[in-house]
Amino acid sequence: MINKKHNRITRFQAVISFLLTIIFCNIAKASNIIYHGTGDYFMPMGVSALIEAYPEMGMTYNNNFIIFKDGTGIIYDDKIDKTYLEMLDNCDVEDMFKTSYDRYVTLPPYLYDPGRYRCEELFHKMYGKGVNEISRSLTTVKIFGKNFNVTRINGVDEKLRKVAEEVEKHSEFKEFFTKNSGGYNYRKVRGSNRLSAHSYGIAIDINSVITNYWERDYKVSEIDSIGYSNSVPYELVKIFEDNGFIWGGRWYHYDTMHFEYRPELLRIKN
Ligand SMILES: [Zn+2]
Repeated sequence: MINKKHNRITRFQAVISFLLTIIFCNIAKASNIIYHGTGDYFMPMGVSALIEAYPEMGMTYNNNFIIFKDGTGIIYDDKIDKTYLEMLDNCDVEDMFKTSYDRYVTLPPYLYDPGRYRCEELFHKMYGKGVNEISRSLTTVKIFGKNFNVTRINGVDEKLRKVAEEVEKHSEFKEFFTKNSGGYNYRKVRGSNRLSAHSYGIAIDINSVITNYWERDYKVSEIDSIGYSNSVPYELVKIFEDNGFIWGGRWYHYDTMHFEYRPELLRIKN
């Protein structure tokens, strides 16, 4: 008799626990987080994307911290609500995933700049801090005979070599790879305090003379309305995007010469 009662309670508990798990997982799905089933944490989708995109970094996640191979960590979400400008200047990892990168946007809407927000701490952690540390990992990739300096970290150079292989099959693209193009350059973004992606050796600019840059066309602030111009063929863009590079031509603040290795943005949809 006692045993039967005990069995009934156990079965009842099992049913309740099963129902709770379903409810729990649906809440997790709805709020864009992945339940990893180890029972001790939830992993945000942005973190999963980073872990998958940069396996060399050996990142793990624990309680709002991204932990690196050396045991040090950076905070994932600073829990601060930011305006567009604040996000550009003071971006945490979570902010980087607030706007998803769309490979089919040809006329980016107002302030749509996915990838333009970069958490500097994360990029320092991956590629080094300061000219000396970063330049230790640089190497050269040739495209149509023109040298581009990029980092070897995260296989950026190998990815760019794959781009070169494909791009060189199209002689009509040669004009984009001339002396008016380049890769590594330790510098701030024009008119700001933020480091350019070129500082980490993860970005290249193709021919700046025949491409377009919003700041060259409009002498306005970053929250003013602007137009859009582009001369870069989408077949060329596709070759870069297929290899993990995002394109500045998909930004409201268009920078159509700019390609940047950001595979974490090309593999997830928020
Ligand atoms: Zn650039």
